Amino acid sequence: MRKPFPCDQCGECCKRAGLIAETRSLDRGDGVCRHFDDQSRQCMIYHERPEVCRVDLQYMRKYRALMSWESFVDLNMQACDELKRSSSSSANPAGD
Ligand code: SF4
Repeated sequence: MRKPFPCDQCGECCKRAGLIAETRSLDRGDGVCRHFDDQSRQCMIYHERPEVCRVDLQYMRKYRALMSWESFVDLNMQACDELKRSSSSSANPAGD
């Protein structure tokens, strides 16, 4: 059995729902998903979240034939790191 996706619940992807065609309808008006709770940084509909938000399901449907789960996780973690970097640099553009 493969390891689960190592999401650390940073919320950076949910804060960019407005940028992606598949999640644009979830944009609450400032780019953040309307189901994202700013306080807890968690999805308020996690167990009923849309299919596009389900990493395991997306892998099985679209990427399993193209790459291993480990490679898929690695690619996604690179994207997660990039989102975190861009978020911290926009919060602190001077790099202080
Ligand atoms: S539905 Fe939940 S998991 Fe999907 S973008 Fe919104 S807050 Fe994130």
